[in-house]
Amino acid sequence: MQTNLKNYVNGKFIESADSERMENINPATGELISTIPLSKKEDVDLAVAAAKSAQKGWAELPIEERANYLEKIANELEANMDLIAELESKDTGKPITLARNVDATRSVANFRFFAEAIKTLPAESHEMPDAINYTLRKAIGTVGLITPWNLPLYLLSWKVAPALIMGNTVIAKPSELTPMTADYLAKTIHKIGLPAGVFNLIHGVGKDAGQAIVENPSIGAISFTGGTETGKQVARVSAPLFKKISLELGGKNSSIIFSDCDLDKTIAGVARAAFLNNGQVCLAGSRILIEDSIFDRFVELFTQKVSEMNIGDPMQPGTELGSLVSKQHLDKVRQYIKLGLEEGGVILYGGKVPKMPDALKNGAFIEPTIISNVETNSRISTEEIFGPIVTLHSFNDEQTAISIANNVDYGLAASVWTQDIEKAERISSKLETGMVWINTWLHRDLRVPFGGVKSSGVGREGGRYSLEFFSETQNICIKY
Ligand code: NAD
Repeated sequence: MQTNLKNYVNGKFIESADSERMENINPATGELISTIPLSKKEDVDLAVAAAKSAQKGWAELPIEERANYLEKIANELEANMDLIAELESKDTGKPITLARNVDATRSVANFRFFAEAIKTLPAESHEMPDAINYTLRKAIGTVGLITPWNLPLYLLSWKVAPALIMGNTVIAKPSELTPMTADYLAKTIHKIGLPAGVFNLIHGVGKDAGQAIVENPSIGAISFTGGTETGKQVARVSAPLFKKISLELGGKNSSIIFSDCDLDKTIAGVARAAFLNNGQVCLAGSRILIEDSIFDRFVELFTQKVSEMNIGDPMQPGTELGSLVSKQHLDKVRQYIKLGLEEGGVILYGGKVPKMPDALKNGAFIEPTIISNVETNSRISTEEIFGPIVTLHSFNDEQTAISIANNVDYGLAASVWTQDIEKAERISSKLETGMVWINTWLHRDLRVPFGGVKSSGVGREGGRYSLEFFSETQNICIKY
């Protein structure tokens, strides 16, 4: 059944000013699932006016009361995780089991986590011989939150929760490709009775709704997660307006495998890093660097493991690989496979559109693909594909592994696989990335800093880093 989603502004679900709409398709089946308003500047301005007038009252509430609202949102989402998983799966094409275990679960955790985290944010004070300083953390005001399609509610809740707890009011814009769970969040927020204007949701495309949020001078900070090119545009527009920005952008991440690794655990971990969510994860380990003495054995076991992955109907609980997010994205991924071949690559596994049953024949499915024989500086090995494509490379010493891993524009994450922890730590500290996992991948503690260097972004989110981003300090000095 198709639904016509609406913007959520000042506590009401409303149409956009010009009533223009865009279709939202289930990428696994090609079915129309909803339409969204194509909001423009006028709609953003209306939401900002509501957010501005609600902000003072919201920021003046005691922290416990704001935390109670977040708890209520978490409880309500938790009671409806199956529905969230279904909405997310239909919107993105991802397997329902993944949507429940990762997206829905983490969205609940984000609200609960920030409701607690605020209580442990340390207060700062600095004494002088004749005075005392103390530093307040105040809300910024109204903030803009712009999110991508790969982990829709997971990433939106990761921004909404810390923004609200610090006393800000919010203008959120989800990806136009995956609006369903943002709409569900708005309905949840409405149901639990968050004061009107504190959370506002604007649907639409980036060049209109997104850009209007970034350009609005009354919005004091932008937390953006998305592609590096869009991030540049957000930075360009924000800079002369002196907005705070947090940019969580693309990645091209290496999994570095040494001959002394625990091979079984490494194969499982590296396959997960490469293909979870069909490789549509900014942290995906899409360049696999293997010490040459175990290269052949690794390839044999890794190919075997990948060949056992179950591609199929995202709504079936046993499906491991669903559809990509859209037909356009499938075209981009297939172009990269073609490019890999032009660059001299050999496909060791996959590369084709699989034959699917009738109900899924219009879906954006592609086999998980392993490519070998390409140069470490080839485009396929250095550009973000954001799909289920990995390249394999061999190395013969630590220094070479580090240079290959660092020889990309991105700097988000890496994983190192070895039983020699001293070696792993030595290598990790030389990697130009914001995060390194040793003998694991995407093992998240919500308190730790998340973010990248180089073209992977600016700033960190997570725990106190998010609370600091969504606030301004004010130092007060009292002379004795
Ligand atoms: P995208 O940049 O195309 O879009 C992201 C969001 O920005 C969408 O809501 C879009 O509508 C909006 N947008 C587009 N143009 C805009 C503009 N001019 N002004 C303001 N907003 C605009 O990214 P995508 O294709 O949705 O997502 C995939 C990308 O996101 C990948 O590069 C991936 O690595 C990255 N990502 C990064 C992280 C991270 O934490 N570093 C996490 C997930 C995804």
